Amino acid sequence: MVGHPLHTYRDETAALLTRAPRGPAVMAELADLARRTVASSPIPAAHPVAVGVAISGLVDAAHGLCHVCANIPGWRDLPIGTGLATLLGVEVRVDDCACAQALAEERCGVARGARDFLFVNVGIGIGAALYIDGRLYHGPGGLAGELGHITVDEDGPACGCGNRGCAEALVGAPAIVRRARELLATHTYGSLITADVDGDSAPLRVEHLAASAAAGDKLAFRVLNEAGEHLGVAIAAALNLLGSPLVVLGGGVVGAGEPFLGAVQRTVRLRALPPVARQARIVPSVLDDHAAALGAGLAALDHYLSRVV
Ligand SMILES: [Zn+2]
Repeated sequence: MVGHPLHTYRDETAALLTRAPRGPAVMAELADLARRTVASSPIPAAHPVAVGVAISGLVDAAHGLCHVCANIPGWRDLPIGTGLATLLGVEVRVDDCACAQALAEERCGVARGARDFLFVNVGIGIGAALYIDGRLYHGPGGLAGELGHITVDEDGPACGCGNRGCAEALVGAPAIVRRARELLATHTYGSLITADVDGDSAPLRVEHLAASAAAGDKLAFRVLNEAGEHLGVAIAAALNLLGSPLVVLGGGVVGAGEPFLGAVQRTVRLRALPPVARQARIVPSVLDDHAAALGAGLAALDHYLSRVV
């Protein structure tokens, strides 16, 4: 049944990165990964008709090209689609993780049946996808949807993209932890946070902040609230541009719950144009961390069916 994977297989991507960080060898590694996935399937005589790949980074889905991968420095302008298709002998669809997650949301998640929505994933970085008039909008060269690099604080911290004050530099998990450390260092607030703030034994994470905020910790609440407000500024700008009535939020930071999510919702209500704000629903994803893989598979299946039906 669509949306209910018959089989999942998880491999150690770290080994993949260290063995074949760049060049043609990475194609062979990825092809082997696909073959191992099929071989581990309990389905007798499983034979793939198409393969879907989701990559965290800048992807030209139309050409199966990975411009930049967030987690693998060597991946630049890598033709994943054609390279894998040659090795596997089936068609390969490549997209970025946020677009794949958005497709999964539209088919199996909280955006089921929606024609227009914005998907935003908040983890280490921010990924976003635009679903417009019943389909994903990638933009020329796949460059649309970089919500994480909208400036929300002109004098804010440096971002990995070279700009300052991008949403990602203020709302991504590393930015949230850094802000918490800054405030803890000032000793302005008493805090319930018990994680190892300066050491490595149990490094401070967003989950610690969420637990502390839920227990009444003002500092943790403030940090998560601030991050939610920053993201709300970026989303309000995007909604004013797109007029989308629905925003789906995914990713680990969204798991921080009300202090973060509530701040996003309030800030959009405050900052978006009134007619836009009135219709905007901002809801967390209900899909698990297989959503990107699920969406990539659905995109590959769509493409296959469009060719044979
Ligand atoms: Zn940036």
